[in-house]
Amino acid sequence: MDCLFCRIAKNEIPSEIVHEDSDVKVFKDIHPKAPVHLLVIPKVHIQSIAHLEDDHNDIIAKLVYTAKKVAQDQGLRGYKLLFNVGKEGGQVIDHLHLHILGGWNNIEDRKLIV
Ligand code: AMP
Ligand code: ZN
Repeated sequence: MDCLFCRIAKNEIPSEIVHEDSDVKVFKDIHPKAPVHLLVIPKVHIQSIAHLEDDHNDIIAKLVYTAKKVAQDQGLRGYKLLFNVGKEGGQVIDHLHLHILGGWNNIEDRKLIV
């Protein structure tokens, strides 16, 4: 399967990696919509939130907990976590990813839709 984020997970395509372990990878979004815009992906291919199955509970927990830790490491005091689900929900890349968005100085700037 030719999936961009699977290839990023395997380092076949370069990315600006912020954090990585055996289950997940966190890298900078190539077209940032916030001063800090990171993507958390599972290394296994799951298409979207709509494709989750019972045995994916651990990986979802890992994605969210990793986002919390990375946001803390980045010094973000507040941030948004976002899953786009399906084409109608704005999902462009069909490999599950959690957006971390933050780092705004101006409150007005954070009113965005990704
Ligand atoms: P979504 O619309 O939720 O599917 O988000 C996909 C995100 O992936 C967008 O914010 C893109 O800017 C980002 N993106 C696409 N290609 C790359 C890439 N090669 N490296 C990093 N981020 C990417
Ligand atoms: Zn994939």
